[in-house]
Amino acid sequence: MSEFLDAKRRAALTFSCPGCGGRPVWDPASRQMKCPFCGTSSAIEMDQTPPVEYPIEQAGDASAQDWGEAKRVVRCEGCGAQTILGKEETATLCPFCGSPHVLEDQSAVGIAPESVLPFAVPKEKAVSGFRAWLKGKPFAPGKAKKMAALGEIAGVYLPHWTYDSDTVSDYTGQAGHWYYVTKTRTVMRDGKQVQEQYEERHTRWEPTAGTVSRKFDDVVVAGSERLPEGLLQRVQPYNMNELCRYQPGFLSGFTAEKAAVDVHKGWDRARNRIEATMKELAVRDILTHADEAQVTSISSKHRKVKYKLTLLPMWLSSFTWKEKTYHVLVNGQSGKCGGEAPVSPWRVAALVLAILAVLGVAYYFFMISGDGGEMLDGLSVMVGY
Ligand SMILES: [Zn+2]
Ligand SMILES: [Zn+2]
Repeated sequence: MSEFLDAKRRAALTFSCPGCGGRPVWDPASRQMKCPFCGTSSAIEMDQTPPVEYPIEQAGDASAQDWGEAKRVVRCEGCGAQTILGKEETATLCPFCGSPHVLEDQSAVGIAPESVLPFAVPKEKAVSGFRAWLKGKPFAPGKAKKMAALGEIAGVYLPHWTYDSDTVSDYTGQAGHWYYVTKTRTVMRDGKQVQEQYEERHTRWEPTAGTVSRKFDDVVVAGSERLPEGLLQRVQPYNMNELCRYQPGFLSGFTAEKAAVDVHKGWDRARNRIEATMKELAVRDILTHADEAQVTSISSKHRKVKYKLTLLPMWLSSFTWKEKTYHVLVNGQSGKCGGEAPVSPWRVAALVLAILAVLGVAYYFFMISGDGGEMLDGLSVMVGY
């Protein structure tokens, strides 16, 4: 057993209900473990000491994949999402697309998380948030409304990688120095042609080279590729001060998405961002002794590269309508809701018909009373809605 889970944490892992021996689940409302069979609550250690980060060279070690208890992977035939479940937990609908075709997958569970933001929003609250959100979408199709009515919403922990690196970059480039040449031009002044002197700016380029360095801490890369980036942004932020050291108990009753972006692909993305920053630093370095800068080559060395995997809570409801998948997200920590809703042409048509019917009735009264003006004013307000 590595430093991933020390003896004390490990002891807390073989959790069972003190009342009936059943398997308790994490209860977001009480922030305790709660038995779904007899209702007994039991405490769980919420360790907020800074999480351990691991050298990226160790990412392939077997210990890195120790989740502290038996896990299995299921894969959705519809969208390909891989979800991590407890050994005895059963998969029903895919939380990412709503498909019922979720099958066992033989792939490894992947790297275990180091820290978790435990769910703080209970399911009932997420469902009511989802319903309130739908109320603002009068043209959403019945299928979305049915999902909301059924409370088809799943609690999923979404994987996020963070990376640290001590980066040193050697660069070569050109330092541009401005100089001015006095020139003469002819201009019109008071209707007369006159000669005028002016300064013309030129740049003298000379080769330059240098070294820049920076320590990067917690460059975040999303491990999920199932949800549109813009949609994820809508339910941000998360308060990372509440991160806890990973305990399998936090996942009990919930699922976790297996990172579609693995630790190395995640590092490639983080490194690209780091290297873009290093290039900016090189430009700034040249500008300390020049007026203009060009970086022609840069070579970076990344030392002490460390990673950790963090799980963030999300309530997810997904449905497919006319071959397109729509998602509704509820931030599992803050309850913030965001989503995509298709517009049902039937619902729009139904509203148009209703308005026409009302107009028809109004017109009828207008004709028989000869005094429909006020009524029509009232109607225009309705149509404006
Ligand atoms: Zn019990
Ligand atoms: Zn799916």
